[in-house]
Amino acid sequence: MRVMRPFGAREAESGLVSSRRILQGVQQVQAACDTCGAQLIPNAAYCERCGTRTRRARSMVRLAIRVELLFFLLFVGLVVAFIWIYSSQP
Ligand SMILES: [Zn+2]
Repeated sequence: MRVMRPFGAREAESGLVSSRRILQGVQQVQAACDTCGAQLIPNAAYCERCGTRTRRARSMVRLAIRVELLFFLLFVGLVVAFIWIYSSQP
């Protein structure tokens, strides 16, 4: 049986690596995979060898999650506002 590594640990590790890179001022296109070191196709979202998401793809996913969360909160706020308006009417 294979023991799965917790998702959070890996994300935290990559977060540390990327923040260190930003501090160093390295803002170039990622050329090699962080996990296996294989060469990446320019603007690739995944490593062809091991399937690891590239830094660019990870940041895009983070942005997408943030936008989605914003829309979700907007929707919840709208529903709550409507419920409040309707319930406050006589
Ligand atoms: Zn790889």
